[in-house]
Amino acid sequence: MDATLFTNGTLYLGAGAFERASLLVVGDRIVDVIPDGGELPTAAHLVDLAGGTLLPGFQDAHVHPLLAGLQSLGIDLKPVHDRGEYLRLIADYAAANPTAPVLTGGGWFGDVFEGGFPTAAELEGVDGRPIMLHSHDAHGMWVNAAALRAAGIDGATPDPEGGRLIRDGLGQPTGMLLESAVALVEHLMPAPGEALVEAALEAAQRELHSVGVTAWQDAAVGDSDLGPNPLPAYLRLAADGRLTARVVLAQWWDRARGVEQIVDFERVRAEAAAVGVDAGTVKVMIDGMVENHTASMLEPFEGHPGDVGIAFLSPEALVELTTALDAADFQVHFHAVGDAATRHALDAVEAAIRRNGRRGNRHHVAHLDLIDTSDIARFAELDVAANVTAVWARRDEEIVHRKLPLLGAERELTHFPFGDLHRAGARIVGGSDWPVTTPNPLWSIRTAVTRTGLVEDPHAIGDGVLTHPLLGEQALPLGVALDAYLSEAAWVNRLEGETGRLEAGRLADLVWVDADLSDLDAYGSASVRRTYVGGAVVYQAP
Ligand SMILES: [Zn+2]
Repeated sequence: MDATLFTNGTLYLGAGAFERASLLVVGDRIVDVIPDGGELPTAAHLVDLAGGTLLPGFQDAHVHPLLAGLQSLGIDLKPVHDRGEYLRLIADYAAANPTAPVLTGGGWFGDVFEGGFPTAAELEGVDGRPIMLHSHDAHGMWVNAAALRAAGIDGATPDPEGGRLIRDGLGQPTGMLLESAVALVEHLMPAPGEALVEAALEAAQRELHSVGVTAWQDAAVGDSDLGPNPLPAYLRLAADGRLTARVVLAQWWDRARGVEQIVDFERVRAEAAAVGVDAGTVKVMIDGMVENHTASMLEPFEGHPGDVGIAFLSPEALVELTTALDAADFQVHFHAVGDAATRHALDAVEAAIRRNGRRGNRHHVAHLDLIDTSDIARFAELDVAANVTAVWARRDEEIVHRKLPLLGAERELTHFPFGDLHRAGARIVGGSDWPVTTPNPLWSIRTAVTRTGLVEDPHAIGDGVLTHPLLGEQALPLGVALDAYLSEAAWVNRLEGETGRLEAGRLADLVWVDADLSDLDAYGSASVRRTYVGGAVVYQAP
């Protein structure tokens, strides 16, 4: 077997420890870590790290690769944050795709438009075909007049249950559809064929490898509210060796059904295991988001008496499904944004432990925008991991103007309380929620430590977002923020014995970054030179 020696760089050894050292890989495993000054073995291949850092491959504990891939193959507005740039990218795509019946894509931010939402009028004269563009947070859609006409939407169209059409002073739809109202136009989009879905998933995999991600947990597999089902494509890619990442699939809990769907999850788990894919997780959406009042709150939103948001599942239903999934040895991956949603997730796990005992199924709660102070210590007690989307914890324009006012001064102090969770012994894991936000773990880690945005990030927009921390006392130590994407994410992905640390005997899932990552200032512009999975190069910087 071929040996590769990595020298002349810094190794990240976990728990905040950076060391000048060399690393020897034979085949797919790490076989030795040699401190500087130690005798170096001979190896067929030598990699000169050129003063950069070598880490275990990053693991993303909450991501939607297929959605991101489909977006990047359509009109991809993610790379920019400017109204004029959006219109230019849309026009360019239209010109390059003259035969497409409809034009689709997404990734725009509302804060560049007056009033927070774009309108059909903005798209007047761009193209005569229907144009439909998802917002970056996937909670709304911007459409043009042709799309409204084709879908038969006009002033007489009522708001659907769980959704809303933004209207002008005369009651006419302006071209902005929120939440379930998106379904009014979705049928205009041709369902992507098998080949397109596979291509999108492979494009997403390439992009994740390019930011050093070697393993991830897909946060919605199955027939979900979040686009086409990626399961068949994962299984095909795995079967023909095109899946180069280690993936865990979180199967979508259908809220219209009950525990009888668990037999279907078991079937998929077995089918996936046969091609080496772990589908032993179930995703349960408890609520939505704060900004549009769909988070589930213990107390009403500030200035909105009686409005405590929406819970998609009752506490009783959560207890029943969590207990049953735990008994069947599924990991439950909860989506909880409001403090009531978080509490009910913890209550459900507590009830499952009471019934089933501690089965070690590594349940985790993603996002955690708000946690009541009395619930913080329960994460460690119940061994529930806090799956944080750290890049959100900064003073973005959207957060300052649309979210904080709904919390009020007192509750604002319980906003993304990652520092409190850590001090109370909670296990912190990192997820990007890409394409909602950047998949770059280095940017998330930097924000977890500084609670500010990065000057390199086009979406870090707002007064003081770069300089003024969002609740600085909730910052995480650098080692904790790094391990959230390494050993702790490996634990949540059931890969901790094999990955997540640079240690003899573990799989050689590695990322070589071109900067010294013990220096926080390096994170914004640092880039990945090479990514390895099981000793094989899966990404090489151009
Ligand atoms: Zn998500």
